[in-house]
Amino acid sequence: MTSEKKDKCGVFGVWGAPDAAHLAYIALFAQQHRGQESAGIAVGDGDLLNAHVGMGLVSEVFSGDVLGKLKGTAAIGHNRYSTTGSSKACNAQPLLEEYIGGQVAVAHNGNLINAGLLRRDYEERGHIFHTTTDTEVILHLLAAHHLSKLDPLVESLTHLQGAYSLVFLFKDRIEVVRDPWGWRPLVLGKTKEGAFCVASETVAIDAIGGTYIREIEPGEILTINDAGLSSRRFADVQQPAHCIFEHIYFANPSSRVFGDTVQIVREKLGEKLAMEMPIAADYVIPMPDSGRSAALGYARASRIEFREGIVPNRYVGRTFIKPTDRQRKDAVQLKLNVVEEVVKDKRIIVVDDSIVRGTTTRGKMEQLRRAGAKEIHLRISCPPIRNACYFGVDFPDPKDLVATNRTVEEIRAFLNVDSLHYLSIEGMLQCVSRPKSQYCHACFSGEYRLEVNRPVTKLSLERHQLKMFT
Ligand code: AMP
Repeated sequence: MTSEKKDKCGVFGVWGAPDAAHLAYIALFAQQHRGQESAGIAVGDGDLLNAHVGMGLVSEVFSGDVLGKLKGTAAIGHNRYSTTGSSKACNAQPLLEEYIGGQVAVAHNGNLINAGLLRRDYEERGHIFHTTTDTEVILHLLAAHHLSKLDPLVESLTHLQGAYSLVFLFKDRIEVVRDPWGWRPLVLGKTKEGAFCVASETVAIDAIGGTYIREIEPGEILTINDAGLSSRRFADVQQPAHCIFEHIYFANPSSRVFGDTVQIVREKLGEKLAMEMPIAADYVIPMPDSGRSAALGYARASRIEFREGIVPNRYVGRTFIKPTDRQRKDAVQLKLNVVEEVVKDKRIIVVDDSIVRGTTTRGKMEQLRRAGAKEIHLRISCPPIRNACYFGVDFPDPKDLVATNRTVEEIRAFLNVDSLHYLSIEGMLQCVSRPKSQYCHACFSGEYRLEVNRPVTKLSLERHQLKMFT
């Protein structure tokens, strides 16, 4: 049994729209890049909540007549991914439960670092959990605090440590929550017809023809109901810890994330990369699609011709999202093909956004060599990833990261390229517009904003692993 609990997912919510499920479907489709393993929509008709969740892509989960059966004027939705281990239908979100307060559905993007301890505490008191996600513990907290004279949601949230962008659906309202550090993006918008909606990324609001209003503030709870919007805080303002990796790789280039348009940031990362370590070459070649924006910036700054030398198969999808190594390897081979005439006998600069395990990159470099590239200079638009992320990006165990315990020269040798340069942390942080102290870059720097004593690992919420916490 495996758990896929460190989710870098997509969430969505809309209130007061006659076609709520359809809007959720479109929004999830637009956020498909945030998770391809499962998808789900919960709807509310003012009385009852109903949900459909399933494994696979949004278009697969909602094929046929499924959407037509999700009737209601409110909806929340979720895209989910995990990198390794088997995928389980019971972990698909939104989670829909019934408790003393009525029905509630929740969709979560992020990762709670104290979920294991909270869960153990409840299990010792006889609670039964249906899933192995960290999200479920939030519903137990909500139920436990339901009779509190204070605000039950606020009471529940004060127990959470880590990253959480949450959308709750109740029969009479949607509650939207962003953790006090603002680790994951979460934005508010309005549909063409004037219904309020929230999404992980602005691309989802664009896709439904809506208008962006603002970010949900870190530490804010936003309620959306028939009366409109109301906002309250549940935590003091903290120093934000926006995940810089959203800009490097994860978010859609057309999205506005933490106040910057992702495409523009990525182009700047590429420009910076060219300035940090210039080298003579015939062409700048992007690694599709993740390195394309940075390669554009690199070519512009270096005045070296930009050429497409690696062609993607658009039907394979994001390779790292495939759960097993074997699946990932097959997908990489299928995914990219080299244009021999472009690279043969040429000195090429290949630009990619990041290297994680190094296995796919190594394969790609081999393909370029086989096609006759004379020199390969690999440029990466972020620093070496050497540390675990406990806040929502599902990097493998640090021992599986190519940069852990390897120098850049050793990585260069492993990848068999003529030169390798990673963007510096300083250079990376100069490409975003908020103060440097407002970003989390622990995966590169090891500087964690929160102390992580007993990190919730992939398997730590599984039955046989619970012993770990005793
Ligand atoms: P690899 O060489 O196997 O480390 O794969 C590198 C590719 O994986 C790059 O093109 C990255 O865009 C992509 N990637 C980005 N983020 C991740 C992640 N969290 N896990 C795995 N691969 C990622």
